Amino acid sequence: MKIAICGCGIGGLATAIFARRAGFDITIFDQFNTPEPVGSGLVIQPVGLRVLEQLGAADGALAKGAKGFHMIGHEAISGRKVLDVAYGPRGGENFGLGIHRASLFNAMLDVAIADGISITANHKITSTHTTDAGRFVTFENDTVSGPFDLVVDTTGASSPISSLISKPLPYGAIWGTVDWPEKSPLQYDRLQQRYRRASNMIGILPIGTLPNGSTPKAALFWSMPRGKIKNWYDTPIADWRAQATALWPELTPFTDQITAHIQMTPAAYTHGSLRKPYGDRIVHIGDAAHRASPQLGQGANMALLDASALVQCLKMLPIDQALPRYVKARKRHTNVYQALSWTFTPMYQSNSRILPIIRDYILGPLSKVPPAPAILSSLVKGSMINPMRGLPTDQANKPAIR
Ligand SMILES: Cc1cc2nc3c(=O)[nH]c(=O)nc-3n(C[C@H](O)[C@H](O)[C@H](O)COP(=O)(O)OP(=O)(O)OC[C@H]3O[C@@H](n4cnc5c(N)ncnc54)[C@H](O)[C@@H]3O)c2cc1C
Repeated sequence: MKIAICGCGIGGLATAIFARRAGFDITIFDQFNTPEPVGSGLVIQPVGLRVLEQLGAADGALAKGAKGFHMIGHEAISGRKVLDVAYGPRGGENFGLGIHRASLFNAMLDVAIADGISITANHKITSTHTTDAGRFVTFENDTVSGPFDLVVDTTGASSPISSLISKPLPYGAIWGTVDWPEKSPLQYDRLQQRYRRASNMIGILPIGTLPNGSTPKAALFWSMPRGKIKNWYDTPIADWRAQATALWPELTPFTDQITAHIQMTPAAYTHGSLRKPYGDRIVHIGDAAHRASPQLGQGANMALLDASALVQCLKMLPIDQALPRYVKARKRHTNVYQALSWTFTPMYQSNSRILPIIRDYILGPLSKVPPAPAILSSLVKGSMINPMRGLPTDQANKPAIR
């Protein structure tokens, strides 16, 4: 089977490695000249780490990332702890792996290269079409490649070939990468956030080291209304630092490192899912099929799980049966996390005055009452429900190795 993989991000690389190992003839296209990290870090949850283990990329990721065992959030003025989610007793799979995008990409790319996969770079996809011979991919310069038996769309949130029209969320964020200061009072084993209502949020996520570095890094993020992100780049950076450290004084050694706007990358968030993420010889996975705010830290994990489930189905069944089977395996998991993300995001990122009160005075205290801590823990780990429903191996549901 000849497969075109459109997009060499997290889902694309994972699909390429799995598909190549399954014996398929793959070509992977990306618009980039050479891969460059966009943005900062993210969290690989235990379900995602298991997919990295299947790929053989977990050791590389673990060597570079930082294990996080808690997610803690405080209300800025009162100091009240309003979010406290632990991954569970230390040991085993009870952590999220904070990692810089470049380090994650490199860990996966090393495996792809060792497997003999080469990337067709400088190919910006604009459209696809089918004939009796198969599906073809068209690029920006009007060249065409094909026919392929299957096109896998892994071009992410700006996919030119997915029909998904996602809803812009009212808040986005700016993200930057900073050194972890030697004398910080903060702990390097947790994601920490400060909130003022739901309209202000600042967070710090330990993400380990860059591909060729040894300095411990952190991702610094600052939430802001979508419409204000562009204007932020025209305001004095010192004003922002003062605003940020007023919210969280201990963060001064982190924010002091941001001296130019260019150090922060804007991120607008959108929400939505394709009702039917496949068609004639095409399937959409990852952000091309479903998008949500990163509040629950699941997007990259979803792309990894999608890739694993898709190739498992393609190995078992002919394409016309494999694609609906893949969707059946993944749909419930993605739907539940989409719904939870839609519900929780406005409590942390919105103009609502009511929702943060519910967050701080009702949900915060309730979250400490059993069985809520265990439920929240499985929620962040990505394992609240079976991520690969009914697949024979249920690989992603197996106990973690470490
Ligand atoms: C600020 C932020 C923080 C996040 N934090 C987390 C987190 O903590 N945990 C988590 O799990 N997820 C997080 N996510 C989500 C996560 O980054 C995405 O869900 C994930 O990267 C999706 O993977 P993907 O393979 O679908 O797409 P991507 O990884 O975005 O890859 C898409 C690829 O397609 C290529 N491409 C795009 N258009 C074209 C084209 N026209 N032609 C050719 N190539 C193209 C791109 O160059 C890229 O290489 C976060 C997202 C953001 C924005």
